[in-house]
Amino acid sequence: MTLTLHPNEGIPGQTRHLIVILGDQLDQGSPALGGLDPGQDLVWMCEAVEESTHVPTHKARLVLFLSAMRHFRDRLGELGLPVRYRALETQSDPTLAAGLTADLMALRPNRVILTRPGEHRVMEDLVATCKACGVELEVREDSHFISSIDDFRRWAKPRKTLVLEHFYRSLRRREGILMDGKKPVGELWSLDRQNRKTFGRKGPGLVPAPLCFPPDATTQEVMELVQARFPGAPGRLDGFDWPVTRDQALAALDDFIDNRLPSFGPYQDAMWTGAPYLYHSRLSAALNLKLLNPREVIEAALGAMVQRELPLASIEGFVRQILGWREYVRGVYWTEGPEYLSRNALEAHQPLPRLYWDAQTPAACLAAALDQVLEHGYGHHIQRLMVTGLFALLLGVKPQAVHAWYLGMYVDAVEWVEAPNTLGMSQYADGGRLASKPYVASGAYIRRMSNYCDHCPYDPKVATGPRACPFTTLYWDFLARHRSRFGRHPRTALQWRQLDRLGATDLSAVRQAADDLRRSLS
Ligand code: FAD
Ligand code: SF4
Repeated sequence: MTLTLHPNEGIPGQTRHLIVILGDQLDQGSPALGGLDPGQDLVWMCEAVEESTHVPTHKARLVLFLSAMRHFRDRLGELGLPVRYRALETQSDPTLAAGLTADLMALRPNRVILTRPGEHRVMEDLVATCKACGVELEVREDSHFISSIDDFRRWAKPRKTLVLEHFYRSLRRREGILMDGKKPVGELWSLDRQNRKTFGRKGPGLVPAPLCFPPDATTQEVMELVQARFPGAPGRLDGFDWPVTRDQALAALDDFIDNRLPSFGPYQDAMWTGAPYLYHSRLSAALNLKLLNPREVIEAALGAMVQRELPLASIEGFVRQILGWREYVRGVYWTEGPEYLSRNALEAHQPLPRLYWDAQTPAACLAAALDQVLEHGYGHHIQRLMVTGLFALLLGVKPQAVHAWYLGMYVDAVEWVEAPNTLGMSQYADGGRLASKPYVASGAYIRRMSNYCDHCPYDPKVATGPRACPFTTLYWDFLARHRSRFGRHPRTALQWRQLDRLGATDLSAVRQAADDLRRSLS
């Protein structure tokens, strides 16, 4: 383990600024590092136990963060920057606050400099720690986003609901991305309609496999550490292949642009057994750790469109995810504040079923999506929204339990992005701040978008009896339970007409089946 020690380390009064770099701030251009004077300032990084345990966390997520942090530490060392690195094996700090307090007391810097963290909890802890130690704290805004939090607040203030499409268009206009003067390129703001293709009966065929990054010595060291320190953590490690350095992240970006971006758009909602990545980019973890900047990712996609004449549907679909959804959910997270995390608009109180931890279920779609999470710490958007998320929503699982699971189990999870997606988009816990109505569907949606139902003992058309698809049973039950809340929503009229066609006797059988399912899963 390489450790670059500050010449003045341990001598009180010799450190001017202590520059805190968190596990998801691994960029040499991080705002906190701006103006660093290696002669007087010290970079501070810490592997606190709490960051690995505050929610049950997938082993691959632990390895990704710790390995990427250690690689970044070594990179700063190569650049001649002084780093004080509090490693899990040596310091074993229970919390970031404990580690920081120890060094603030020992070094007595004039000031702590921090780039805004990705989580309210961390922000509050670090503010309180500096205050308790009597050290000034300077929080710098994160430059790894295209829209600032103030921009978003200004945009959101007069609005009752925060419609993604409006925000996305305003950013495209402001940034001149995919614009032809004042008009969108191709005269359309959204090409979503072209982007809902399925693979049909033949399946996806040969999809170019994503570039993989076998663990190097540092990653292997961290894998052993994680196995030893967190043996009970969920998930498997044998297939760990995520990018952990900036060079690897850039290679992953090139690989996506060259090989999968051309078909990304049309197939972004499709799912297929045994094909976890399909045409998706696998870039979220690198983006969220700040190994990549969203601007360079968008520029790479736009460049490829011009040079290789790639289809606009794929480019717009991809830009929409990064410039639209990613920026938007971050704005929601910081604008809504910590109280957002406790919302439960649908008053859902079921526990999270055990199958989320072991993937043991006959339901083929759930087994596939959950096993993939245990294997890779990954699911693409539709698997997260319309399989694992949908099932929890229909079952009535307490949103905070769903949130904790998503935060711990996906390698790319950081609260600013995970929480609005889970609590808002997926579970409707925010009562419609983010999505005007819940994303609900029966098993028919999964059958249309995948081949999962072909290998399932259940039938998506059946709602009761031994062949009943749990999604279909719970879907009708959900509609019946929430009729008074959503019955008048203009975009759901068809769903209510279909519910009415079920008739009272069938509906009562469905509701009984849903209750039985709930009981058996709790
Ligand atoms: P691609 O499909 O290739 O998309 C390209 C990029 O767009 C992604 O890398 C990501 O940076 C961005 N993106 C796409 N959709 C979204 C979105 N809805 N919100 C924000 N960014 C988006 N994404 C995370 O990065 N971290 C999370 O913890 C996370 N939790 C989620 C929880 C739920 C319940 C849902 C429904 C979605 C969640 N997402 C999360 C969004 C999305 O599912 C992932 O970003 C995406 O699946 C990552 O895989 P990819 O890099 O292959 O993405
Ligand atoms: Fe999933 Fe139902 Fe299809 Fe089975 S039948 S794969 S449970 S949607």
